[in-house]
Amino acid sequence: MRSSLHKAAVLSAIAIMIIGSGCSSRRESVKREFTAMGTLASIISLDDGDRTAIPSEEATQIAQKEFSRLEKTFTVYSLSSDVSRINRAAGQEWVDVSPDMVTLLAAARRYGELSGGAFDVTVGPIVRAWGFNSGVTPAAPLPPERIRQLLDTVGYGTIEVRPGAARLTRKDVMVDLGGIAKGYAVDIAWDLIQRKGGKNFIVNLGGNMRVSGQPSSKRPWTIGVRHPFSKEEIVGRMTLKDGMAVATSGNYERFVTIKGRKYAHIFDPRTGMPVEGMASVTVIGPSAVEVDALSTSCFVLGMDKAMDLLAKLPGNEAIFIPDSQPMTIWITPGMKDIFECFSQWTSTVKIISR
Ligand code: AMP
Ligand code: MG
Repeated sequence: MRSSLHKAAVLSAIAIMIIGSGCSSRRESVKREFTAMGTLASIISLDDGDRTAIPSEEATQIAQKEFSRLEKTFTVYSLSSDVSRINRAAGQEWVDVSPDMVTLLAAARRYGELSGGAFDVTVGPIVRAWGFNSGVTPAAPLPPERIRQLLDTVGYGTIEVRPGAARLTRKDVMVDLGGIAKGYAVDIAWDLIQRKGGKNFIVNLGGNMRVSGQPSSKRPWTIGVRHPFSKEEIVGRMTLKDGMAVATSGNYERFVTIKGRKYAHIFDPRTGMPVEGMASVTVIGPSAVEVDALSTSCFVLGMDKAMDLLAKLPGNEAIFIPDSQPMTIWITPGMKDIFECFSQWTSTVKIISR
């Protein structure tokens, strides 16, 4: 399965790992993995003999079906997807699209506005020109005049939606939903699993996760935060209450190497340049689509400006790990009671003053 959201994301290690449910043998959590939207997905569900809850098999089937349905809408690798049709008609006409597409584009525009343009799903031409989703890596970093040209085609303000339809008001604009679609899909699956009777479970799509209930009456779900400089390690864990979601944007996930230098897949839509200086940003909050958009936005904005954005959206908390040595783990004040750092890194944790 291929799509822009995703392609190389199969390789992109899941930034966050589920590190334990604290279950006893009578309350067993079952993990079922599959690929979806070009990445690894999983459903972890508590099979504890509760006949009022749906079995994990059924929860998995629901998620698989929803992810596959949404991929057909959001992928740029199919000419008939909503996204491809909108991109082809850029600067021309309204395109009939699914309600999911309308909802997601409206959300994308909103996060564009809230982040002052740091989050922009029309960054697609820049992402491609730097060698992502196009299969062609440039031989040298893009020259300033090429970047200026490309920036003319970037602007979330060109996205317009109305019930059942969407359009891009400028020619050559291209939507790339890679920074937000997986989170949206997680919310959709989470919601449907709950409505069909799911109680204690986690939906995970490439590290975008949302939890429901808890694995035992005594403790909540715990999710590990990956060490950005050491693939197999985690620096600590977060406890997530019922309904909470988490997403991580990292510079280690996808990158291209140009003239021996690595460039990560997250771009500043205001400059056209790959973002440097940040290794990872993890955001937790009340919805998967919001934390997905926020982790990407905060990665672009850097810590200080990211704090202004987070202040506009209460309920979201973040962990920032700058791309510098020695490693420092910066956490928002509200993260203090959620994130437990492993002892060897405790001295590296700093709380950001608001
Ligand atoms: P994430 O891993 O959720 O941070 O999303 C990164 C993906 O979003 C990239 O692979 C691009 O497809 C896309 N993207 C890159 N930069 C931005 C940006 N500034 N705003 C929105 N989407 C972006
Ligand atoms: Mg994101």
